[in-house]
Amino acid sequence: EKYRRVTPWLLPSGPPPERVYIVPAEAMVDVTQSVACIQCGACVSACLAMEADPEFIGPAALAKAYRFVGDPRDGQTTERLYDLANDPHGIYDCTHCFACIEACPKGVAPMDQIMRLRRLAGDVHDIDDVNNGRRHEHAFTKIIERKGTLDESLLLQESFAPGVIGKLKPSLAAIKSLLQSIPTAIRGIRTGKMRSVPKLIPGVHHKLPGGSQDHVKRIYATAEESRIELNLFVIGEGGEEEHLPGQQPADAQDLEPEPDFNQT
Ligand code: SF4
Ligand code: SF4
Repeated sequence: EKYRRVTPWLLPSGPPPERVYIVPAEAMVDVTQSVACIQCGACVSACLAMEADPEFIGPAALAKAYRFVGDPRDGQTTERLYDLANDPHGIYDCTHCFACIEACPKGVAPMDQIMRLRRLAGDVHDIDDVNNGRRHEHAFTKIIERKGTLDESLLLQESFAPGVIGKLKPSLAAIKSLLQSIPTAIRGIRTGKMRSVPKLIPGVHHKLPGGSQDHVKRIYATAEESRIELNLFVIGEGGEEEHLPGQQPADAQDLEPEPDFNQT
């Protein structure tokens, strides 16, 4: 049922070709990792978000979703991403805990596929989600860039109504969301997740000592410069190139002599 939820088949646009769809091999490299799934369900058993929300679409089905979102033959990419972002149990229900990556025996790394779906939805297709996850991510990274550690007092405000203090122009929806978040904040204080109540007062949060904040900013700058989407299934975690069965390393292919078609 969860697989069916993500429409796991191609939805090409335009008239079908006379024979078969021809796709350059390099265009399919991006989806090789998700194609490797054997549907064993290990990631689903390991997923804590599914335990908290059984309606969460889940790591296996979302990895399958990326297999079609990343397929150049599919013609419904935006519609698929909009659908997955605006389902309250969709891509922003994942808590980024890495459990599915550890559990998967085939190196599919479902969480990575979910993060790719998020980046495509938010950064490329500019889709805001129903869970406010995109703005929450932006708020989180913005605060760490500015302060080095997470200032909890700013997180809610920046997630729901960025600029509420500076511009004093919060939207009604933002005020409503902030008020709805109060019970969550109280639960956080009660359970010890938000450990220090004074830290919830704006302006109290400490800054990093010395020049440490400059180091953090340099990390951000390097990350921005290196926004290359690496497919670990093909490239290998250590940067070593891995090869599909029957494939030769690129260097070996380069060294192979050109066939002489004049010889008989
Ligand atoms: S990273 Fe997301 S999908 Fe994977 S186990 Fe954790 S919550 Fe579930
Ligand atoms: S653990 Fe890996 S191979 Fe198994 S269902 Fe999940 S993604 Fe597929």
